[in-house]
Amino acid sequence: MTKDKLKKFKRIFEKQRDEIAVKGGGIIRDDFLVSPDDRFDEIDQAATDIDKEMRMRLCNRETLYLKKVDEALRRIEEGIFGECDECGEDIEFRRLEARPTATLCVSCKEEQERKEGLTAAGRQHKSLGQAFSRRTA
Ligand SMILES: [Zn+2]
Repeated sequence: MTKDKLKKFKRIFEKQRDEIAVKGGGIIRDDFLVSPDDRFDEIDQAATDIDKEMRMRLCNRETLYLKKVDEALRRIEEGIFGECDECGEDIEFRRLEARPTATLCVSCKEEQERKEGLTAAGRQHKSLGQAFSRRTA
């Protein structure tokens, strides 16, 4: 990975981090705008709860992404950005462009997904077998 490309990714991550931080600040400011009167109305209270839950869910997802962005920035600092966690080979540039926070190359990612698929299928197969043996017993 060239320094120019690294810089480009660093800018993308820093921009994303700032955007999430700005949104986070907006959520806190919004809560201050809820007047005390609204809190005593049951319907409004329910609506506020749903609203809060949705915002929290959004917040959690963004926090998770923020962690990935921070991790990617750390990897840039350490000079290991763009290397596959699994095999240490360079992650395909096109893959990084599509998913800058990727930490596995395409073949390792496929291998991981294949393993996960197999485990899920294996578990299902096992329980089917148990159901079958119970029926015949
Ligand atoms: Zn790999």
